[in-house]
Amino acid sequence: MVDRLGRDITYLRISVTDKCNLRCRYCMPEEGVCKKSHSEMLTEDEIITAVEAAASLGITKLRFTGGEPLVKKNIVSICRRAAAANGIREVCLTTNGIRLPELAGPLKEAGVKRLNLSLDTLNEEKYAYITRVGKLEAFRAGLDAALKAGFEKIKINSVLIGGFNEEDIPQLAELTRQYPVDMRFIEMMPMYDSGDFDEKAFIPCTRVLDYLPDAVPVGEDDGVAKLYRLPDAKGNIGLISPVSAHFCGCCNRIRLTADGKVKPCLHSSDEYSLKGLDFSGMQRVLKEAIWNKPAWHGDLDALHRSQAGRNMNQIGG
Ligand code: SAM
Ligand code: SF4
Repeated sequence: MVDRLGRDITYLRISVTDKCNLRCRYCMPEEGVCKKSHSEMLTEDEIITAVEAAASLGITKLRFTGGEPLVKKNIVSICRRAAAANGIREVCLTTNGIRLPELAGPLKEAGVKRLNLSLDTLNEEKYAYITRVGKLEAFRAGLDAALKAGFEKIKINSVLIGGFNEEDIPQLAELTRQYPVDMRFIEMMPMYDSGDFDEKAFIPCTRVLDYLPDAVPVGEDDGVAKLYRLPDAKGNIGLISPVSAHFCGCCNRIRLTADGKVKPCLHSSDEYSLKGLDFSGMQRVLKEAIWNKPAWHGDLDALHRSQAGRNMNQIGG
């Protein structure tokens, strides 16, 4: 469906849980999430009805995210049913990778085509610091499992944090020579409670190129990412700049939170509830949300935090 500004909305990102087995400092508070009652969250059947209602309006691509989608007990069943919905052509998932050794095979078999994994550094101590509780070896086991499972595409996402992981850029980019993966660097977005980062932590994506003098433009872009490639690499380097050069004018996505709120823009407080509705009720609310999608996300920087009213783990990134 086309919104009031002529943007064709074809991509729905669904957060299946706010919970996570890590605690990344820019994403969620150390103590985790304040527990919502089970009855406030969408059930599996409601998620599938929402997918069907969205597909009836022209959504063709889904991405499951979180919190950490792989801590959701019924994630494989949700993916399988969503992939079978009429009109859905592609089901993707974003994960921190920790549970992939058990779940990569079942997810592939359920119809997940593409995986995004999150990794901000290849230094063990820094990984433990930024995730507060994570172990780099667990990420590596997850990446191995994903590579073996044979997904159509694997991308690794790094949030750029000035003063923290700039010097890790060459080593992260090297992953595109070691494995058939794309490595994407994403500007950190200032969420309402996303850690104690000062102005210097928010650096533009273009800084990545200072660390990769051999990277050459690929000449085509992949959705929101500007693509580059290192000599002899098996995958691309992607630069995603939601802050320094936003792509709101061609944004094709909406989001659904685990508690059933449609967010037509990641950084707007506008929310439309699907909880408790049937197919036609969800279709009506989705239409209203898409039609009213905000023109752009407004100023974002260390001084102008996101107006989303939620942290990233409560939206899905
Ligand atoms: N737990 C999964 C993971 O980490 O991949 C999925 C959910 S996580 C919220 C999705 C993506 O959002 C991750 O790649 C994460 O690095 C990114 N993210 C979280 N907080 C962010 C922020 N403040 N700015 C930019 N990206 C952020
Ligand atoms: Fe969890 Fe992903 Fe947020 Fe890290 S970025 S705390 S892994 S939801």
